[in-house]
Amino acid sequence: MRLSHLFTKTSKTAPADEVSKNAQLLIRAGYVYKEMAGVYAYLPLGKRVLENIVQIIREEMNAVGGQEISLTALQGKDVWEASGRWSDDVMDVWFKTKLASGSDIGLAPTHEEPLTRLMKTYVSSYKDLPVYPYQFQIKFRNELRSKSGLMRGREFWMKDLYSFSRNQQEHDAFYEKITEAYHRVYERLGIGDITYKTFASGGSFAKYSHEFQTLSDVGEDIIYVHEGRKLAINEEVYTDEVLADLGVSKDELVEKKAVEVGNIFTLGTKFSDALDLSYTAEDGSKEKVFMGSYGIGPSRVMGLIAEHFADEKGLVWPEDIAPYRVYLVRIGGEKAVHEADALYETLTARGIDVLYDDRDERPGTKFADAELIGIPHRVTVSDRLIEQEQVEYTVRNTGDTTLLTVDELLGTLSKS
Ligand code: ATP
Ligand code: MG
Repeated sequence: MRLSHLFTKTSKTAPADEVSKNAQLLIRAGYVYKEMAGVYAYLPLGKRVLENIVQIIREEMNAVGGQEISLTALQGKDVWEASGRWSDDVMDVWFKTKLASGSDIGLAPTHEEPLTRLMKTYVSSYKDLPVYPYQFQIKFRNELRSKSGLMRGREFWMKDLYSFSRNQQEHDAFYEKITEAYHRVYERLGIGDITYKTFASGGSFAKYSHEFQTLSDVGEDIIYVHEGRKLAINEEVYTDEVLADLGVSKDELVEKKAVEVGNIFTLGTKFSDALDLSYTAEDGSKEKVFMGSYGIGPSRVMGLIAEHFADEKGLVWPEDIAPYRVYLVRIGGEKAVHEADALYETLTARGIDVLYDDRDERPGTKFADAELIGIPHRVTVSDRLIEQEQVEYTVRNTGDTTLLTVDELLGTLSKS
């Protein structure tokens, strides 16, 4: 992508009402556009980052047997009444509206109910189970406060997978499997070392649910971390009984602020009872399907990563989710144009995603934009360097700068 073609521009300031660091940076660098508090549009650079995050999650969900679908955002009231969750007293984040006919509808805040009902069409025998449908979808929640940028949206992206199993035993095996998949997701997103499997309240079918909490000073949750065992306890269940259950003592735990980047939950037969999702077992008996739900917030993750890795100069994306791998800076006249164009072709031909700063701007402007946008590798082609047959190579997160020949550059990029 040539920067001269990209319709977004960087800016020195963010909207005055934007208080969160992740949104300020993402807006200034042209990744997102703020429609209103908690509502952000994704621009070309932001869409690429979001897609990279989504793709990592997708690969790991497919690896545990997930089947991708796309459910509807518009939801009729009946299915939610069946489970008792239509009432604003039960679910306080509903956005509701009416059809022209006057019927009530809601904008889906989550999808347990509609998916459970949908599965009644396809599940009738033990042979139809287990199944693991999942989706990436915008969820709508009328959050009371939305001051954390992408981390608490009023519309936001969620990956939600739902497991439909024959019984608790089959469910438990999958629960373990997807726990591992979640660890792989956060590892690949570059936040594995600061993300903890966290014990939280479990509902009626399991003693605990599990959240994946990433340490962050701007986190809205409090967790108690056991570094040695790489686990944590959410403050909502931080009791002597839970400590005893997990075999940990208070003095081994450290209180931390964290952001919930995902959670996994045993639903049991709560929704299959309410909506009568059952199947005929091998012995002919009728059984209720045993369910679980598994969420991750790709847009929250994007905000968190933006905020976590940023430095005083701007964004610093981890390699695997950056919108482009290389930011190519061209400085100088005709010779530089020729050489930089050629290098752009060479890198692109090797499958390396390049954002090419081909604008006629001052070097200072280009370097400042490179730093704000936060692409991992910066390569500079200038008239002076061309005479030495070299390019300047800078790593964004360390600032390390070296002079390399093009061959050396290609070698370095293929290693990293
Ligand atoms: P929180 O306690 O932070 O409100 P939640 O318990 O309501 O989260 P879930 O309903 O379990 O969240 O949603 C699944 C995932 O979706 C969460 O783990 C989180 O990553 C993401 N998520 C939830 N609410 C938001 C939001 N308002 N904005 C962005 N992501 C969100
Ligand atoms: Mg919530």
